Amino acid sequence: MFNKNKEKTNKASESNGIAIAVKTLKYFMPIAWKTHKGYFFIRILKTIVNAVQPFVSIIFLPLIVAELLGGRNLEKLIFYTVVLAAGTGILTLANSLFSITIEKYAEKFNNYFSVEIGRRVMEMDFCHTEDKKALDQVEAAKTGMSWYSGGVDGICSPFFEIISNIITILGSAALIIVNAPILFFITAAVVAINVFITNKLNKIEIENYKALSKLNRVFGYYSFNLVDFRYGKDIRLYGAKDMMIEKWNSVTDEDIKHWDNMIDRQLPLNYISGGFGLAKDIASYLYLGILVLTGNISIPVFTQMLSAGSAFQNSMSEMMWRIQNIVMRTGYAYEYIKLMEYPAAITKGSRHVENAGHTIEFRNVSFAYPNTDVKVLNGVSLTLRQGEHLSVVGLNGAGKTTFIKLLCRLYDPTEGEILLDGINIKEYDYDEYISIFAPVFQDFRLFSFSIKENIVLDNLNNDQERVDGIIEQVGLKEKIGTLEKGVDTMLFKSFDENGIEPSGGEQQKIAIARALYKRAPVVILDEPTAALDPVAEYEIYRQFDTLVGGKTAIYISHRLSSCKFCDRIAVFSEGGIKEYGTHDELVEIDGGVYSEMFRAQARYYN
Ligand code: ADP
Repeated sequence: MFNKNKEKTNKASESNGIAIAVKTLKYFMPIAWKTHKGYFFIRILKTIVNAVQPFVSIIFLPLIVAELLGGRNLEKLIFYTVVLAAGTGILTLANSLFSITIEKYAEKFNNYFSVEIGRRVMEMDFCHTEDKKALDQVEAAKTGMSWYSGGVDGICSPFFEIISNIITILGSAALIIVNAPILFFITAAVVAINVFITNKLNKIEIENYKALSKLNRVFGYYSFNLVDFRYGKDIRLYGAKDMMIEKWNSVTDEDIKHWDNMIDRQLPLNYISGGFGLAKDIASYLYLGILVLTGNISIPVFTQMLSAGSAFQNSMSEMMWRIQNIVMRTGYAYEYIKLMEYPAAITKGSRHVENAGHTIEFRNVSFAYPNTDVKVLNGVSLTLRQGEHLSVVGLNGAGKTTFIKLLCRLYDPTEGEILLDGINIKEYDYDEYISIFAPVFQDFRLFSFSIKENIVLDNLNNDQERVDGIIEQVGLKEKIGTLEKGVDTMLFKSFDENGIEPSGGEQQKIAIARALYKRAPVVILDEPTAALDPVAEYEIYRQFDTLVGGKTAIYISHRLSSCKFCDRIAVFSEGGIKEYGTHDELVEIDGGVYSEMFRAQARYYN
């Protein structure tokens, strides 16, 4: 009963594999055709050459042997030999030429799909970047499109090669059946056994690949991130090198264990396959020898049967291997399609955002992060009108950043709704909606691009005058004036040894310049100043408030630096707004969270 069920499952997964292979080829072939048609022309030429090549020796070797045994005509002998050698040589040369061209195309395809994966990762809903399943899917797509599948060429090549194989099989089988029918059955039996064994070998390989997917992500983290010199300070100062290397080694050990295990499981199967191959050779020689001795075939035909037999067997096994291989490779490449079709995590509408001033309203909003039950926000209600400046304060972990993440649609609320101008934000066109915000997050990142590129980020919207103006406003003019290449100086030394390492404060200024450069009606500062002392932080908020002018602004801090400039203050505590009002109102609440915080921090701001 159990075995029957298992068999059914295997059959289902096999047919599933074929369905996936068809879907994958249908997906990739048109893209490949659209991007590089030349690839297909070269592939067809290579298919023809591959199919014809075995027949050069199948036809000309017996003619040479016949000439040696019979006519012994030197001219004919030279002619056959030259045709055999030149034919094989020319076809081999053409084949390798095609292979080189195909390799170039394969590289172009790889580049194309790497960029597409990058594009997809950047366009995926933000919450996926914190979702382990989505991260695994990105890794599976990356590895699936690299050497696991061989990329587009990897999944298309078996197709063309199978066509070559079919032509060779039909030609050689016809010759064998006419002259030595039993040889056909001996060879076919060994091919069948080999197919069975190859199938098992492939299954072991797929299991190994699946087990390695997670490990590769960890491995990637160590091999790329830890050699990133931005981690260098912490690693040196905390003496973390040994721990890092130990962790890295343990991942490597686990990786090697998986490969060893795979090889150990595959080895006996390889021995069995070799044994059957040997038995077949003995049977074939005996059978053909008897046919010669009994006068059923001539010696030239004997040699022809040997070449046709090995061409038949090779092409049959190659074809079977390629059919399985196509299923396996498309299985890997299918991970790319899964990434491209990864379900959206937030609802996106199509309504246009009006240009007029905006009112933002949180209506009884609650939120728990995916895969958790804890309500990080619980029943938050708040209205913010165009031009108002709101300060959101609260202790660490009170839910302030989460509030901003919901507003910027990085996540959707679990309960309640957020409205923009009276309409649920889910109804708006996503890109239009998020374009109204210019946030500077706590963990903002600058790129290894030039200062200007870091500010502009959008090549189509490159306005030098505006960049210069904003640089002056944020107080970077003097610093940039000392740099030889000015705003075109590269940040960090990753790609340019003359790149600069901006200080924490300078990085914040660049990030703020970026937010100001974006013509967005709502600006958000989410504690990008956490690394600064309270006085410096106060200064940044004060300057920023002047720069923001009539825009709507939301300032987040666990300190009270920003509160003095703001129209309203929302005090977050335990996931809710505990106090709401102006500074003067809140400071009066006896035993209130705000008045407590203010008293504790007052010395900084007085
Ligand atoms: P604040 O900005 O006020 O310091 P946050 O909004 O960052 O607070 O965090 C609120 C709570 O949500 C914290 O308990 C934090 O651990 C939790 N949290 C933040 N991000 C995630 C996440 N991606 N997954 C699960 N919990 C999270």
